[in-house]
Amino acid sequence: MPVVVLKDVKKSFGSLQVLRGVSFSVDKGDVVALIGASGSGKSTALRCIDRLETIDSGTIDVCGYSVSDPNLDLRRLRLDVGIVFQSYNLFPHLTVEENITLAPRSVKRMQKAEASEIAREVLAQVGLSDKADNYPEQLSGGQQQRAAIARSLAMQPKVMLFDEVTSALDPKLTGEVLKVIETLAASGMTMIMVTHEMAFARRVADQVVYMHQGRVHEAGAASILTHPTTAELSEFISNDL
Ligand code: ADP
Ligand code: MG
Repeated sequence: MPVVVLKDVKKSFGSLQVLRGVSFSVDKGDVVALIGASGSGKSTALRCIDRLETIDSGTIDVCGYSVSDPNLDLRRLRLDVGIVFQSYNLFPHLTVEENITLAPRSVKRMQKAEASEIAREVLAQVGLSDKADNYPEQLSGGQQQRAAIARSLAMQPKVMLFDEVTSALDPKLTGEVLKVIETLAASGMTMIMVTHEMAFARRVADQVVYMHQGRVHEAGAASILTHPTTAELSEFISNDL
């Protein structure tokens, strides 16, 4: 049963056609690595899934919601979809725990004790149990990113979207964030991650979707990263080595 389905999605910004008919689907529990050169439309595709951008044509279905339906209840869609970006966007004046409990309390109207209990669980999941009372600036970049992931998890989403969440981090901090994502993948979370970490994609992804100039140019099991069939993917991978 697919959790996310894109069919022939097209999207332009002014005269620039960024998505030129993108189709792919993600089964429950699957990890999809969305790869491709800068400007190929990866972030735009991800943002369309959460309706941070509207599409011009085609369809997107997410957790049973028709995302392109103008009458869609965005609040309900976003209860099911967690999204984490390269920049952590934690509120600097709130502690880690307060950052995490904010949405459960305001959006889900959860009581403080219940929200705190969930914060404890998700902080343990990302290895930050001892940082609940710290402010973001007291954490390393990797810890802040893990706190941002915990904040998303606290809403108990059905699918997680990651957009180059390690791009701003040095290799050591990248490793600790990828480890958290890998554990999450092993726990059965459905996820789509835009990433430049080819070794990670090879190891963790159930499906690799390679975008080139606004289209899915090649897609398949992670083995396509070892045995690409198109010249473009082949070149993309070799540039990475
Ligand atoms: P990627 O994530 O693969 O690097 P993006 O989806 O961010 O690619 O961008 C694809 C193209 O769309 C780029 O040329 C980018 O400049 C353009 N683009 C993205 N967002 C906007 C926007 N809000 N307005 C205008 N152009 C945009
Ligand atoms: Mg991008």
